[in-house]
Amino acid sequence: VPRTENVELPIIPTGYSRSRFNSAIEAIELLIGRQNVELNVKPLVDGWYLEHPNTHDAFHLVEQEELVSSATVYPASTEEVVHIVKWANQYEIPIYPISMGRNLGYGGAAPRVRGSVIVDLGKRMTKILDIDPDTCTCLLEPGVSFYALYEEIQSRGHKHLWIDVPDLGGGSVLGNTVDRGVGYTPYGNHYEAHSGMEVVLPTGEVIRTGMGALPGNNTWQIFPYGFGPYADGIFTQSNFGIVTKIGMTLMPNPGGSEGFMCTFKEEEDLAKIVEVIRPLRIRNILENVAQLKHVVQEVALLGKPRSHWYKGKGAVPLERLREIASTLPCGDCSWVYYGNVYGPKEHRDEKLKITREAFETVPGARWIPRESLPRDHYFFSRENIASGVPEFEELRWLNWHENGSHVFFSPVSAPRGEDALKLFNIAKKWHQECELDSFPACCVGLREMYFIVNMVYDRGDPVSKANAYRCMRGMIADAAAEGFGEYRTHLLLADQVAGTYSWNNNALMQFHNTIKDSLDPNGILAPGRNGIWPKKYRNKSWEL
Ligand code: FAD
Repeated sequence: VPRTENVELPIIPTGYSRSRFNSAIEAIELLIGRQNVELNVKPLVDGWYLEHPNTHDAFHLVEQEELVSSATVYPASTEEVVHIVKWANQYEIPIYPISMGRNLGYGGAAPRVRGSVIVDLGKRMTKILDIDPDTCTCLLEPGVSFYALYEEIQSRGHKHLWIDVPDLGGGSVLGNTVDRGVGYTPYGNHYEAHSGMEVVLPTGEVIRTGMGALPGNNTWQIFPYGFGPYADGIFTQSNFGIVTKIGMTLMPNPGGSEGFMCTFKEEEDLAKIVEVIRPLRIRNILENVAQLKHVVQEVALLGKPRSHWYKGKGAVPLERLREIASTLPCGDCSWVYYGNVYGPKEHRDEKLKITREAFETVPGARWIPRESLPRDHYFFSRENIASGVPEFEELRWLNWHENGSHVFFSPVSAPRGEDALKLFNIAKKWHQECELDSFPACCVGLREMYFIVNMVYDRGDPVSKANAYRCMRGMIADAAAEGFGEYRTHLLLADQVAGTYSWNNNALMQFHNTIKDSLDPNGILAPGRNGIWPKKYRNKSWEL
């Protein structure tokens, strides 16, 4: 991706004067130290996963310069976060908190309002404050990555403790949890697995939720609810506070873990397969997030660009994908299921037997013995992830395009065959219309199914970007018309998605607005995040 030319003057927040901005920067430098304030004056570099920028969205969906910060501040403690929040109120400057900013596919580290000051909590607030091997819990600051937590648990010799990891282990445990991210052990719903938060409110007060509000307690990480209204939810996917600590529960090692793989021949059998998965998942025979991936991902995971396999325009035809797949361990198929079973061997064998029998009721299903797979097969990365071991292999499919970037379409449905088919057809229609390959995966949480479509595009090509954006908007609108909503979305699509949750004359958004106006009267904290705009921005053409 070409870099922009060196900008001589930093970007300033929209509607702000340069002299006021300069005064504000001088003031924050005095409060937290000049070395902990960085102006966004260097060329924008997209980097890659491990060297991602904290100035903009590395996977830009629009012009690279659209969603950018003016500066970044690096607090070292909750007290410094309080100073920053009070400073932002004094200067009425928009701030945007990130933990590590690896939210790639959902907006990365970018703020929604151009020129906001990024509060990067991940650089200096990196403490693992507690790991309790008896209650299997921990207390973390925002800069603790899945890798760091995993390594610390190993180095302390707590072999009986597992963590839960998403596809990639470089993100922040706290950042992922407040965005309600998911991983792949039985503790995969991260919000559900958390217990207790410390939050700096937009006016600078600090609260602890749940048992954390009771001085002298030793149950903050044990019992999430405490007494009275349960507040934690409003600090996720919102702009109501900056979370500075989070408690997480850790899964005890179940006594063994083993992956399995099954392929299904026909694309149109999607509904049948999902009907087979649902009862197994709800009965907990399948104990972790079940993942059924389209065969295109098996091909993309080889890490070669799409042009290596197919020269034509538009989506690579299914026949061509199946032809390539027939040379791979998965064989000629349309869908690949990656799963895991847990517990001692006799328990695992019993669950594998039940699952295999159920899967093989779908004509053309093929159970692939674990032992038959080469050690460098993606299967073993999935097995690790499902056993709480962080990995990076999932990055391979980004090579599908030059300057490979992606954006997630993430609607939630019931784990029903007819729903999966409806979403699959919506995605297919829009991908064809926008000449993009569709990378769908059905991920069954428990009673909910995330129909995740990873859309890979070339961020160096304005046409590819425009198509990706158009495709996303089209899918969101069509899915909503069928009664489906997204569980999470890219920063730029948040207004559209929030607008689909409109029951009773947008009553839910009006409730959010009431909370926002009360907690953040100056509208300084992450304006526009998840479609929630402070009063001074609301209905002034910020919404997309
Ligand atoms: P951040 O980027 O730090 O935080 C995310 C957002 O939460 C921020 O933008 C901010 O708005 C808010 N936030 C962060 N910290 C705070 C705070 N302290 N207070 C208030 N608000 C805050 N995600 C999954 O969940 N599961 C997956 O399996 C998964 N697979 C992926 C695969 C690929 C190939 C890629 C590229 C991405 C994937 N992601 C997945 C998305 C993303 O990489 C992860 O969710 C990642 O953990 C998010 O980045 P982060 O942890 O650094 O969070």
